[in-house]
Amino acid sequence: MSDSKETLHIWLYLHDDVSDMSLISLGDDYLIPLKNELLSFLDLDVRFIIEDTHTPGVTDFDYKIGPEQAVADWEERLKARGLITPGLHKYLLVTRDDLDFTTKGIAKIEEQVGIASIKTYMAIGHEVGHMLGAVHEDAETFFEGGWWKDSYTKSYNPLKGNAHRYSDANRRNIKRHLATLTGES
Ligand SMILES: [Zn+2]
Repeated sequence: MSDSKETLHIWLYLHDDVSDMSLISLGDDYLIPLKNELLSFLDLDVRFIIEDTHTPGVTDFDYKIGPEQAVADWEERLKARGLITPGLHKYLLVTRDDLDFTTKGIAKIEEQVGIASIKTYMAIGHEVGHMLGAVHEDAETFFEGGWWKDSYTKSYNPLKGNAHRYSDANRRNIKRHLATLTGES
C-alpha cells in the first residue's frame, strides 16, 4: 500500500427536479459541513462528485413510488448502466421533494446507494452516514450554544438544530466500515 491516502468518492446525482438549484448553495449549506466532518475523523481524502448531467433513465425517474421501491429502482438503474464501481464509492440521488409524507431519504446500512431530499439540511448527511455504516441507535443530541442539535443520523425533528457531525459511536461505525473497504481491517 502506498503512503498517499485513499479517496472516498461520494457521487451525488442531482435528480432533474433539483437541476435549477444553485451549486453554490449545495456546497455551502450541505456538502462543506459534511466533508469537514468526515475529514475530521477519517484517514482518507473525501471527494464529492456532483453529476448534474440530466441522464435519461437515471436522473428523471419517479422516486415517489414508496421509499423501498425507489431505492431498489435507483440501484437497478445505476447497475444496468455500469455506473457502480465497487469499493470506496457511494451513490446518492438528490431529490427536491421528500419520498413520501414522512420519508426524507433512504439508504441501506453499509450499501452503496441511497436517496436524499434537499428539504432538510440533515438528509444528505443522514443517508451518506447510513451508507457508511452509521445507525439511528448510535445517534446523539448535543446541547450547544443554548439549543439542542442532533447528530446526522437522528430521526428528523424540526424543533432541533443540526450539529453537522456524527456521534462518536457512529464515527467509529463509519471508520470500521471504511476499513473493510480499504482492506485495513
Ligand atoms: Zn435513517
